[in-house]
Amino acid sequence: MGRVIDARSLVHEYPDGTRALDVVSLAIDDGESVAVVGPNGSGKSTLQLALGGLIDPTAGTVEFFGETTDADAVRERLGVLLQDPDDYLFNTTVREDIAYGPAQLGMSRERADERVAALAETLGLTDLLDRPPFRLSGGEKQRAAVASVLAFDPDVLLLDEPLGAVDATYRERILTLLDEHDGATVVFTPTLDVVPEVAERVVLVDTDGTIAADGDVRSVLTDRELLESVGLRPPATVRLFEDVLPPAEIPLTVDAGRRYLREK
Ligand code: ADP
Repeated sequence: MGRVIDARSLVHEYPDGTRALDVVSLAIDDGESVAVVGPNGSGKSTLQLALGGLIDPTAGTVEFFGETTDADAVRERLGVLLQDPDDYLFNTTVREDIAYGPAQLGMSRERADERVAALAETLGLTDLLDRPPFRLSGGEKQRAAVASVLAFDPDVLLLDEPLGAVDATYRERILTLLDEHDGATVVFTPTLDVVPEVAERVVLVDTDGTIAADGDVRSVLTDRELLESVGLRPPATVRLFEDVLPPAEIPLTVDAGRRYLREK
């Protein structure tokens, strides 16, 4: 398994002196799904920006694919979704926005059209393709932004809150798209409840931008003390079962909880 991202001694301070990021070491391997979680303002977005090479960290290095330290040199392999969908949608129509990445990378017109049509179909954008992006609702914009990142088929996806404004149906569809997409996936989640559905590994960011924990989903999500130390609490399903079952048996999702109760 190759190393996709290797961040070392990564520090970022904004010009006003806010130290938003202080990561000793974070390595992500090919094919991993990593959820970065933490309270508001802990530095999750800043970490994504640094990993995606979209800010110059104050100190430290980010190495990609085991060799290059320049994100721009691997830009076509990195799909970065920032928190604000408006950052992605700048063309005249939604169709052009989704086709932008493939066009930049020289994908054939035919293949690009196919990708746009398939993503639009899955994400409920087919009837919106000829609309200007500013005429979309919040959820539609977010789906269009996700489509524009997936369209060029990047090897690595850095997604800052890809599910924030999206309702349940499309949330499931985006999760399925990510599941089917080969490559390392870093997902920022606003709530811990979706983490077990999207990731095998959790990086927990503390309020000071340091990493408080980096481990498998179960060990982090069932550790109430750890989560409370950074101002979070375990997902609802975990809270429901935590004093009843040992950590190794606690269902992490509502579906798993239902199965457990049915089989009992
Ligand atoms: P999160 O994504 O976890 O909510 P951020 O990475 O957005 O956290 O922010 C981390 C810290 O950096 C916060 O204290 C935030 O106020 C600060 N911060 C974020 N962006 C800026 C900026 N452009 N200038 C100054 N401080 C910032």
